[in-house]
Amino acid sequence: MKTPSVAVIGAGWAGCAAAVELARRGARVCLYEAARVAGGRARRICYRGQMLDNGQHILLGAYHGTLRMMSAVGLEPSRLLLRLPLQMRYPAGSDGMDLVAARLPAPLHMAIGVLRARGLSIADKLSLARFASAARWMDWQLNTDCSVTELLDRFDQTTRLTRLMWRPLCIAALNTVPERASAKVFLAVLRDSLGAGRAASDMLLPRVDLSALFPEAALVYLEKHGGSVRYGSHVRSIEAADEHWMVRTEAHTDTFSQIVIATAPSHAQILLEPLDPTLAQSLAFGYQPITTCYLQYPPELTLPAAMLALPEDPEQQDWGQFVFDRGQLDPLQAGLLAVVVSTSGGALEHGAEVLEQALACQLAKTLQMPALAAPLWAGTITEKRATFDCVPDLKRPPNATALHGLWLAGDYTESEYPATIESAVRSGIAAAEGVLKRA
Ligand SMILES: Cc1cc2nc3c(=O)[nH]c(=O)nc-3n(C[C@H](O)[C@H](O)[C@H](O)COP(=O)(O)OP(=O)(O)OC[C@H]3O[C@@H](n4cnc5c(N)ncnc54)[C@H](O)[C@@H]3O)c2cc1C
Repeated sequence: MKTPSVAVIGAGWAGCAAAVELARRGARVCLYEAARVAGGRARRICYRGQMLDNGQHILLGAYHGTLRMMSAVGLEPSRLLLRLPLQMRYPAGSDGMDLVAARLPAPLHMAIGVLRARGLSIADKLSLARFASAARWMDWQLNTDCSVTELLDRFDQTTRLTRLMWRPLCIAALNTVPERASAKVFLAVLRDSLGAGRAASDMLLPRVDLSALFPEAALVYLEKHGGSVRYGSHVRSIEAADEHWMVRTEAHTDTFSQIVIATAPSHAQILLEPLDPTLAQSLAFGYQPITTCYLQYPPELTLPAAMLALPEDPEQQDWGQFVFDRGQLDPLQAGLLAVVVSTSGGALEHGAEVLEQALACQLAKTLQMPALAAPLWAGTITEKRATFDCVPDLKRPPNATALHGLWLAGDYTESEYPATIESAVRSGIAAAEGVLKRA
């Protein structure tokens, strides 16, 4: 096999995973990143002099590709991630529910968790058990895709369980409301959480910023293994020339034997349009925004848990879906809360200030802590194209293309997962494997 020279375009989690896998297996890699910070849609940002994330993220124990990549570049996932049992916990006294998987082997962890759960009637618990056993019987698969709402109707789920568990889970995992979300993709996520072994079902909360959680270590690894990194290098165009690929930035033109385009689909479209307009057209997705609102309180403020679900009611301007106590993850962020609003289009129409005030009031009311209504400061970060709209029967492109030596990587490529860190990482590894096979 000839040593391939490979350009990887984009240092998001997909590009970093592709670059590490290629370098680990002996390829010569040059990674181009338009921004000055690695991580793409899961990265560190500087806000009011503080290092924050562009949005609060949760990983799952089932993110095997991601955890393996973190270890491959010398990181210790157990130190960098807080591992919590699978849970859906609303604040006490909020008319929510409190379900935490037990520290027992599967499937006892869920069975005991459901039996012990507070805030659910017997009918709700039976409904949950019915869903889990029917889904397991179907091997968590559907022949014909439909919306999550249709799936829940088919399994005769109670209104309360749907409102308190299925709806927030669907919005958090797929960033698409259940009425429009793909049941197939939802089932794949549930298979690896509700239906998985105990460790795989755990929820993992980053203790460090998202760029430090993998992308930056990946780039250090790459440079140590003979690769190079070009930060602030926006790739303007790529061209095929004599069985090689030319990559042009403002400052350089370089030649490679193969290319991995690991940008978001809208950016990949721009690069692909002159080469293969049909392929470029196939990357035209709809998108959904995610907003994270940071609220800073005095450092002594702590919540009853690192992560809590919030009862959502847009008519009351209760837009928050989950709140994270960042101080329980990183002592340097004591008193900082991150409130997540997925599919945040409706909430954003009111403007950031109204949203921040409404979220602070929602927290004060739900947690029965009046002081939460008056944060020291608030800041809102919205990623308008956070993820693709995860609708039924969505066509996602494979990593291989009809263009010889040109590969796609990114959370949007063919996968049973929604747009997540794990689908991004797995796509990067798959694209790297394709490159090495073709070399
Ligand atoms: C607010 C928010 C919350 C989320 N929450 C979760 C969560 O809880 N759990 C989870 O698993 N996932 C979550 N996700 C999804 C997850 O962040 C993404 O699926 C993942 O980061 C996508 O990675 P990627 O590498 O495919 O693409 P990207 O992160 O978009 O990376 C593409 C990179 O390419 C670069 N680039 C683009 N064009 C060029 C060019 N021409 N030249 C050079 N570089 C270029 C970009 O700057 C970027 O760094 C969330 C996303 C957001 C935005």
